[in-house]
Amino acid sequence: MDVDEFRVRGKEMVDYICTYMNTLRKRRVTPSVEPGYLRGALPSEAPMHPEPWDDVMGDIESKIMPGVTHWQHPHFHAYFPAGNAYPSILGDMLSAGIGCIGFSWAASPACTELEVIMLDWMGKAIGLPPAFLPFEEGSKGGGVIEGSASECVLVSMLAARAAGIKRLKHQFPTVDEGLLLSKLIAYCSKEAHSCVEKAAMISFVKLRILQPDEHGSLRGETLKDAMEEDEEAGLVPFFVATTLGTTSCCSFDNLPEIGPVVRKFPSVWLHVDAAYAGSSFLCPEHKYHLAGIEYADSFNTNPNKLMLTAFDCSLLWVTNKYLLTSALVVDPLYLQHCYDHTAIDYRHWGIPLSRRFRSLKLWFMLRSYGISGLQKYVRRHCELAKYFEQLVRKDSRFEVVNQVKLGLVCFRLLGSPDENHEAVDELNKKLLSTMNASGKIHMVPASVRDKYVIRFCVVYQHATREDIEYAWDTITDFATELLEGPDKERDLNEERARRHRAALAHKRSFFVRMVSDPKIYNPAINKTPPPIPTSPGTPPSVAPASPDTPSEAGSIQLVPSTPKQSSWISWPLAFFFQSVDHDANDLPLRFRHLDTMVRLKSPNHGRRGSSPGASPERRAPSPSAN
Ligand code: PLP
Repeated sequence: MDVDEFRVRGKEMVDYICTYMNTLRKRRVTPSVEPGYLRGALPSEAPMHPEPWDDVMGDIESKIMPGVTHWQHPHFHAYFPAGNAYPSILGDMLSAGIGCIGFSWAASPACTELEVIMLDWMGKAIGLPPAFLPFEEGSKGGGVIEGSASECVLVSMLAARAAGIKRLKHQFPTVDEGLLLSKLIAYCSKEAHSCVEKAAMISFVKLRILQPDEHGSLRGETLKDAMEEDEEAGLVPFFVATTLGTTSCCSFDNLPEIGPVVRKFPSVWLHVDAAYAGSSFLCPEHKYHLAGIEYADSFNTNPNKLMLTAFDCSLLWVTNKYLLTSALVVDPLYLQHCYDHTAIDYRHWGIPLSRRFRSLKLWFMLRSYGISGLQKYVRRHCELAKYFEQLVRKDSRFEVVNQVKLGLVCFRLLGSPDENHEAVDELNKKLLSTMNASGKIHMVPASVRDKYVIRFCVVYQHATREDIEYAWDTITDFATELLEGPDKERDLNEERARRHRAALAHKRSFFVRMVSDPKIYNPAINKTPPPIPTSPGTPPSVAPASPDTPSEAGSIQLVPSTPKQSSWISWPLAFFFQSVDHDANDLPLRFRHLDTMVRLKSPNHGRRGSSPGASPERRAPSPSAN
């Protein structure tokens, strides 16, 4: 394709996109294809010779579109909004056109500088404290655009991990970093996004998953108890991930309580994930959710969710950029340049080296809409959710399960009084699977306070009250059919739905399993903690005392640890051990083994190697290993 053809085809592509957007209502929301549908429709090998562009585009409509889930469809109410406002599409187009790779300031100065300025604009517009902003007097803060909220959480955890190990290494210079790593523990609520657990898996650290209150909010006291207990057991708290606007039910962790708790522990990093809710803070009436943000070390939000901006655009701010960059820096000669001490090189702020000119789309969005235009959009989004909530509340067959603060309403059929918890869950599963299979509407489930609920999110950019009424009419029609339809047909549908669910059972929904299900690790600790074995020959549940409080010159004391009922720990690689046998899944046992297998030793006691980084002694687990 030469430049003349590109000029023509580019315009045709814009036309195609416009027609697609304008005619979306005519399509099913979700495709009705089976896995592998495309393989049979495409050749088994790449073409040896060029093909006409018309043929390529012809295949889009005949082969690709039948397999597309239309996220911009007015009747798509799943997940969270996925922005694709036109100015942001144009920004991505220009970014691809310019085609620069902005890993350092020198690699494309405008790419870096516009990003710094956009993060400053956005930080101010959202209401972040000056410590997060790059141009404030004395600030060590700043922001970066990452590819996803998951990356934001991961790099924050990696930075906190590096700082934690550095601090411990300072206290225990002869102890191997691997052992120090095994003492680090992070915290999040059960409502935190699964990306927190993934970050812990990648970072190879333990993560204690805590029970939030009845509104899905993690409270300071719960965190404090867990951190104190873990510290007493010899673990080293290093990272707390909180969420403003959780994925299952849009709940908000209690930052004003959590912040002061975190401050009591030296060097614990407090992260705030506001992937969805963050853009709502553009509106003064939603800014109260940011109370306590002054305690945070990092904060992320995705304009590609509630700020209409095309994916990918995840913003991360930190109050100490040096902690972030020192954890991620690599500096080969071929990437160095003469301004690298005065300019930002964004390759040190994330995982990939190469990065697109993503700030263009943010700039286009902010200038095309203005803050007022974005506020208007957020307000309409929230009003429509409130309207949907009212409709649900008027129908006595249903209940609303979350506090509706932004655009997400979690609801469910109540079932009849004689139906038990499982039966009501089943009823709601049936309702959702029948609705989704119809292609008329699309929603996903979540688990809220152990109830199976249906998430209704206002997603469509130009949604109106009529769209919300359509959704509610569709839902109530299906519900009536389910509750009152002829028994025979209902049985048949139930059987179909049951088979469908069985087929999907292995692919557990991302939204159902927000964080590790404790059952995966140890069924016994799901509801009741397992008994602590006390028989002779069985070691008590023990763990080394905190390296912060060594009893003698860096040695570690073994102290009893009590399993917590209201939380569980996600272990690095726990997944691999889960099916070995039941005992291997028993967390407190594994916890005990891990901690008794290794022990931290005082710098000069029984050291085999003379190097400061000599590995600690490793032993087979034994009751006397203390
Ligand atoms: N955090 C929260 C609160 C989310 O809702 C989501 C996704 O919905 C994520 C993190 C993960 O976002 P990403 O897909 O950008 O990694």
